[in-house]
Amino acid sequence: MRFEISKVLDAIEGRVCTDPSLARAVLDLAEIIRYQDIDGGRPASLLRLGMVIDALSREMEEDSVQVYAVVHRALLSDADLTSNERMVVRRWADDGLVEVLDNPGDRMLEVADLLGVPVLTRVRFDGLRGRFPWLVEQPGRVVAPVPGAGGPVFIAHVGGGHAPVAGKRSPTGAKLLARQWRCPESGCALFGGGGGGGAFADLAGGADRSPAAQPPPSLRNGVPTCPRHGARLGDAGPRPRTEVLAVRVGGLVRRRFVLREEQPVVAGRAPEQEGGIMLGQWLNDEARRWISRGHVHFELRVGEVIVTDISTNGSGIRPGGSMTESDRIPLAPQQSRVLGENDMIELYPGVQIGRAEELPTGAPFTPTSVMAEAPTMAMRLPRP
Ligand SMILES: [Zn+2]
Repeated sequence: MRFEISKVLDAIEGRVCTDPSLARAVLDLAEIIRYQDIDGGRPASLLRLGMVIDALSREMEEDSVQVYAVVHRALLSDADLTSNERMVVRRWADDGLVEVLDNPGDRMLEVADLLGVPVLTRVRFDGLRGRFPWLVEQPGRVVAPVPGAGGPVFIAHVGGGHAPVAGKRSPTGAKLLARQWRCPESGCALFGGGGGGGAFADLAGGADRSPAAQPPPSLRNGVPTCPRHGARLGDAGPRPRTEVLAVRVGGLVRRRFVLREEQPVVAGRAPEQEGGIMLGQWLNDEARRWISRGHVHFELRVGEVIVTDISTNGSGIRPGGSMTESDRIPLAPQQSRVLGENDMIELYPGVQIGRAEELPTGAPFTPTSVMAEAPTMAMRLPRP
């Protein structure tokens, strides 16, 4: 039993991040884990985070959605959690996967404002509607997770609209996210450690955090500040460019990934390269046989996405996302091409990768549950 729960917590871990390019909603972990009415279980349970993430996946009709969690520091020693759960949250905190704060205050709304993501909460924010007008003006920017028949569902909240809806990054957010920042506090999991070392050596922060994945700073009296340490952040130069790409299999977006300059990414059935995007778990037998372990290589160069086929069988480009067969441009093994704004590369019929915002998913959709023990699922692909 303990082992199974650990596996579920590991799966949930893959769905929390503070990366502005990947987070799709923001929530307050201390609030979510106390939604006892969702399952009638213990006063606090980390598994409720998984349930809410599943609900978000269902609502967005997309697998593997990630959430930005703000965490009150008291939660790290909350006696209502199991010791295992406390250990897991501490690890997330150390790795910068969640943002731990002494006093979260209105940070959840600030993150939502800067990134343009919806807020999952039951709080009504009466006093903050003037500062964040989108709370009431944009339906769906705040939705409340409540018990439903097959797990939590979202209901209309502060501004109406029951489905979570993303907004735009605020102008301030766009400005802050154009730079990379450094916290003077040594070992800061969010903005690197300021404990000396090379000019950029300490920007890495957690395990392999790219500066491009830094969370948005907090603005205090107009000054970019570390939300964790309350310290003024140093400007460490422009943030590296990124492009968010999405994998679509059988018409459904299965996961997003970030392409960064000087960090090429390989996608395929089971890439051997570090940071490779594995597609095998979403493929049927035929597609598995066709798609190479490492099939396509993506590179971001001077703002352009360059795709190179590195497979045995080749790929195709769907210009402008066209699904008309005569439009498909073959991409032979070892051939490269700049991926145009709406272009997709097709590794096999029904298996496509393109810019995330250009890959709307089809309905109906049953996402792979983050709560499942073995989240593998064979997809039936459309015939060419
Ligand atoms: Zn800090």
